[in-house]
Amino acid sequence: PKEITTLVTFFGATGDLAKRKLYPSVYNLYKKGFLKDHFGIIGTSRADLTTQEFQDFVRDSIKEFMKEDAPIDFLRHFDYQKADITKADDYAKLKALIEKLDTEFALKGNRIFYMSVAPRFFGTVAKSLKSEGLLSENGEFNRLMIEKPFGTDYATAEQLNNELSHAFNENQIYRIDHYLGKEMVQNIAALRFGNPLLAKAWNREYIDNIQVTLSETLGVEDRAGYYDTAGALRDMIQNHTMQIVGWLAMDEPASWTDQDIRAAKNAAFNSLKIYTPDEVAENFVRGQYGPDAANTQNGYLNEKDVPADSQNNTYVAGKLAFASDRWKDVPFYIRTGKRLAAKTTRIDIVFKQGFNLFTNAAPLEKNVLSIIVDPEGRIEYTMVAKDTTAEFKTRPITLNWTVSAEDKAQTPEPYERMIHDTMDGNGSNFADWNGVAVAWKFVDAIQSAWDATQQEFPNYVSGSMGPKAADELLARDGHRWIYEG
Ligand code: NAD
Repeated sequence: PKEITTLVTFFGATGDLAKRKLYPSVYNLYKKGFLKDHFGIIGTSRADLTTQEFQDFVRDSIKEFMKEDAPIDFLRHFDYQKADITKADDYAKLKALIEKLDTEFALKGNRIFYMSVAPRFFGTVAKSLKSEGLLSENGEFNRLMIEKPFGTDYATAEQLNNELSHAFNENQIYRIDHYLGKEMVQNIAALRFGNPLLAKAWNREYIDNIQVTLSETLGVEDRAGYYDTAGALRDMIQNHTMQIVGWLAMDEPASWTDQDIRAAKNAAFNSLKIYTPDEVAENFVRGQYGPDAANTQNGYLNEKDVPADSQNNTYVAGKLAFASDRWKDVPFYIRTGKRLAAKTTRIDIVFKQGFNLFTNAAPLEKNVLSIIVDPEGRIEYTMVAKDTTAEFKTRPITLNWTVSAEDKAQTPEPYERMIHDTMDGNGSNFADWNGVAVAWKFVDAIQSAWDATQQEFPNYVSGSMGPKAADELLARDGHRWIYEG
């Protein structure tokens, strides 16, 4: 592997995310040889820790989440500085430590700043990095990794983006959407562009409709404080679902560089139709879960910290329309929700029906390519083949490939991949501002239409696949959800 020379400063270094994901990811990069001699890691947060205590914290995280003992040769690259990120004065100490490590490990002024803190701090930290002189002037790069959520609507996202822009330009900003780090989401491009049959058929001439499903079985659990202000629309559609749609809807990029990939995705996002309130009513369905059939699980309105009159959506299904030559009149159906029948992330590409040459009475089944992202990586292709009986009849058969245990063991976790890609300067699998902006405008239009009208809730049973209206949405177009839970 190509050794990477860089310093990474983790804001929020004592947080839950850092402990569960960030340090194990850095350790994996070290074990694989991407990080060897020339890396330095600085942790900073409000907590009062010595360098030794921070190294112990990192060692404990690796012990707990990887069941391994991190060697001292790895841990000695970690240092710590207590700082309150809201106080400009505190950045001077951080700057001094950054410069110390830069010299100690010969880091060439290459710097990554990872914001693993509450979103309200993102803008402040970015501004202070610049104003307090923490960005290097003579290094190869300064890069920013930023956690979710990126705003709570278009206006707040734009404001945040403007704040970041004071210190970083677009190609220095790595907006994390961990779905883009998932193996099978990254596999979409290989399938689409690596196979001539699929590459040629990936358009309105051959594709009938596309379905993206992100279903969860859990309810709101103890996150109602956040979730009741967000809902499934902002929590799952604006970010993860739309980013997956980007890989599905884009044209072939001019080359396999992050610039060209992001440009191609942006062209697709820019052709997405933003709905009027009437179109929202026609094309989108919201849901809120009630108790399960056996009445052993609470409905959403009876969950802890949920207001009794909440109109929040725990389920969303809808139809996207792209005004491009490739996708004119091809619906992209998307859905997500809590307390559904099964936990899965999957994409179903439904192809158009073939011409029926045969004299058997039944119409030919449509071909379906399914890309299953979670809980296990799988690709299924359902196609027409001959029935084996004496008469010449057809029937659907399914070709099936599943990620093996060996493959899985070698596959990096999304956070490892995202940290590596940022170190490597590859922004292909990060959310671009243009795409984020379009997704917010799209989602804001839906949310404001919903805010203006009351709906009767609950409207789906916990453990089902959502409201009936979501099935009717497809039935009106002569379609049906391929995945039934
Ligand atoms: P956390 O509450 O566990 O940790 C927050 C960290 O920020 C702590 O280290 C704390 O000391 C530090 N901090 C708070 N106020 C500070 C201040 N004024 N000055 C300096 N440091 C301060 O949060 P978390 O769960 O680790 O989440 C961090 C970020 O990652 C958030 O943006 C969150 O939305 C995002 N995120 C978290 C998860 C997850 O699984 N935990 C998943 C995806 C995204």
